[in-house]
Amino acid sequence: MTRHIFTSSATEPIEFSESATTATSHFEDAFVITSSMLSALQNICPCDTSADNLAQSGRDWWPRAMNWALRNETPQRAGVVCRPTSTEQVSELAIFCNEHRIPITAAGGRSAVTGAAVPLRGGVALDMTSLQGIESVDSVSGLVEVWAGTFGPDMEAVLQKQYELTVGHFPQSFDISTVGGWVACRGAGQYSTRYGKIEDMVAALEVVLADGTIIRTGGAPAGAVGPDLTQIFLGSEGTLGIITKVWLRAHPMPHYQQRAAYTFATFADGIQAVRTLIRDGATPAVLRLYDGSESKRSHGGDGTTATLLVLDEANQSLVETTMSIVHDAAIANNASPADAALVESWMHHRNDTSALQALTRKGFVVDTLEVAVSWSAVDAVVHDVEEAILAVPHARSATCHLSHSYLDGACLYFTFAATPPEDEFDSTYQALWDAGQHAALNAGANLSHHHGVGLNRARFMKDALGSAFVVLQALKTTLDPHNILNPGKLGFK
Ligand SMILES: Cc1cc2nc3c(=O)[nH]c(=O)nc-3n(C[C@H](O)[C@H](O)[C@H](O)COP(=O)(O)OP(=O)(O)OC[C@H]3O[C@@H](n4cnc5c(N)ncnc54)[C@H](O)[C@@H]3O)c2cc1C
Repeated sequence: MTRHIFTSSATEPIEFSESATTATSHFEDAFVITSSMLSALQNICPCDTSADNLAQSGRDWWPRAMNWALRNETPQRAGVVCRPTSTEQVSELAIFCNEHRIPITAAGGRSAVTGAAVPLRGGVALDMTSLQGIESVDSVSGLVEVWAGTFGPDMEAVLQKQYELTVGHFPQSFDISTVGGWVACRGAGQYSTRYGKIEDMVAALEVVLADGTIIRTGGAPAGAVGPDLTQIFLGSEGTLGIITKVWLRAHPMPHYQQRAAYTFATFADGIQAVRTLIRDGATPAVLRLYDGSESKRSHGGDGTTATLLVLDEANQSLVETTMSIVHDAAIANNASPADAALVESWMHHRNDTSALQALTRKGFVVDTLEVAVSWSAVDAVVHDVEEAILAVPHARSATCHLSHSYLDGACLYFTFAATPPEDEFDSTYQALWDAGQHAALNAGANLSHHHGVGLNRARFMKDALGSAFVVLQALKTTLDPHNILNPGKLGFK
């Protein structure tokens, strides 16, 4: 079940302009691995110091790093790529690195879009993808024990074919991301309204701490055993521990599906319909509402009407009831039923990001900003974020869709583009994020719904968490006193 990183039929990253081997590092101050350290690491697990792999493992899908690749730069070079094949090897490696203060940055598919997997201080790039495969399945309880470095398609193929089960986690990056990366970033799949986010799917974790201690958290369907320790590592982005194994909750494979599409005169009307149907208890697996511009771009709209795509899969009576609630809420908010073939078309193109890649190659700043927001603040966040982004010099567009819904609110997913002169790419990128993220926070949104924080959003963490940030910092200081785990991320000191 070996899968190479950065492979996907419709999703190719931007290559270095010359060759990865000659790429230079954008950031300075990398930790230097001495030859004696390298020998010790090589005695623990397979290691790689080829120039090509050091440069490749220095980046992820952060759009800024994609632009740097066009200048033949990688954000940072690790001193060595280590590929452990067991939890014990991860533990031995952590003990050695902790003793010698060597930074360790864990990585799965390196599909993070925030710079989270960039080894900012050099040291060890810990490639987790040799820890892969399903270890066991409890098909009575629907529990899957899976190694953290397993890619999505590898896990689902085995579960669906051999066990008639599905975890139901299908992020757009499904082909190029791993179970450990999903957990470390608190990811969300496109079917999340029925199956939940990854934090709802994780039953237990095996984690290696910075000092090499191997711990196991969770393990019961629910608990009242103090705070939930599993949740501490969900979203920790490699800064609090290295996740080696995950126990995921799986569902019986659904054998019934329905699809529907609607158009609304305005995005706000569509939002009211989604809020109504969700508050009435309907949870269709896919529920995506696109504003006028995104509808025109992807679903053939006229530029003003919003498009709602709905797909549900489960037991037949559950799906029929759900889709009937959806229909009633849509019609009550003045929707016109549209051709359900729009859903089919979305299914075919949903993981294809080649259009965004093409714009990056042409020198556009293109990125996405996703936040979670309560229903009462949705309209203000949409307005304020778009207005703030469009006020930045060289900004060309800011559009929005609603991609995940909850009883109390939703995820708003903004896509923005700008065309700065080449020497203003970095400053424009920074200005767009400052404008959009501050506007979102000020209007009541959180910092991120599922992409996480990484490097790109580290500067907003204290604003976003306020006085509660000290709790997170205290955890970091206690669990990783020498700051060896993914230093420079999540806004830590
Ligand atoms: C085209 C595209 C579409 C995307 N769509 C979605 C989407 O729909 N939903 C979504 O949630 N995300 C999406 N993402 C973002 C990204 O795919 C997710 O954040 C994903 O969960 C990262 O997984 P990964 O294996 O690639 O992790 P990496 O990028 O390798 O790492 C991400 C972070 O997790 C840490 N990490 C990785 N593995 C471990 C481990 N075993 N232990 C501890 N820390 C670890 C790393 O240190 C890093 O901080 C998308 C990205 C791209 C490029």
